[in-house]
Amino acid sequence: MEKLELFAKGCLGTCWYGKYHYMEPWAGCGHDCPYCYARFRSPVTSKLAELKAVFNDPEPLYPEEELLRRIAETANSGEIKILKLCRYTDIFTPKFVKNGLSFKVLRTLADSKVGRIIITTKGLPDRDIIALIAANPAKFSYNAAVRPSNGVIFEKELQPLKARLEAAAEIKRSGALTTIHIDPFVAGFDDEESSLRPLLEEMKALGLNRAMFSYLLLCEEMARGIAAVLKPAAFEAVKANYDLSASKQYLPNQSETVYWSLKPEVKRRSAEKTAAMLSEMGFDFVLCSLKNTPGLDTTRFKGAKLCDGKFYA
Ligand code: SF4
Repeated sequence: MEKLELFAKGCLGTCWYGKYHYMEPWAGCGHDCPYCYARFRSPVTSKLAELKAVFNDPEPLYPEEELLRRIAETANSGEIKILKLCRYTDIFTPKFVKNGLSFKVLRTLADSKVGRIIITTKGLPDRDIIALIAANPAKFSYNAAVRPSNGVIFEKELQPLKARLEAAAEIKRSGALTTIHIDPFVAGFDDEESSLRPLLEEMKALGLNRAMFSYLLLCEEMARGIAAVLKPAAFEAVKANYDLSASKQYLPNQSETVYWSLKPEVKRRSAEKTAAMLSEMGFDFVLCSLKNTPGLDTTRFKGAKLCDGKFYA
């Protein structure tokens, strides 16, 4: 059985290209997103039980001094080229941004032999963290995960979208590769002109012209979490776009990554609409779902790249 380890080898996101390492400095995440898959995964639940912690109040894997020492040791071993933060938590979970632990972890990594540090976050870095990234732009890839505003409101615990986009823009100006992940992307809602275009305009105005989007994954447990926060009609409309009779395993050798599939026609329509808008507005973008969308002609969209697992690496 997989355990929650401080460092683990793995693929990038739900993509199996590339050779990367992951780091998980703590178990749990204060963002407490209702659709979060991490809260159901056995490496997380068993580590939380061991640490006597709950998911929405994360706990470091080791006491602070030991955690930083272990990170420094592995990060300086020379075995890690590209490190992704994180698979089961968020490096900017509010508790550890506030007490400075997120900064100390990043400083340890920035000072180490690790070649590239990929941050994907729904959180908000503070001034010290932004300054650290800005001082080491070649070491970092910064990815802000955001969603457009519409009738599907999941997250209650996130910092305002504007502040998160502005932080990404500041990091981009420092020279670090910066990408906006529209994630989780809700087909039939987030692809609507009235919802997506204002977000894309805000991104463009801030100079954020790299984008990708990943569709909301759904399984029975995640659907329960989402049903608890959405209005019933919105929940039914989201669920109606999935084929509940067809679930598939997303990651090889990871039997817990089984999700319902979006209905193919819903996915194709959504991907076409979104790619057309990104293309028309001059974004540089990658659709990690394009290659799995039957019938979609990817060559039609200027600026679109097929995912090779390196777009934001
Ligand atoms: S930010 Fe990521 S890890 Fe944290 S609760 Fe949300 S989805 Fe889960």
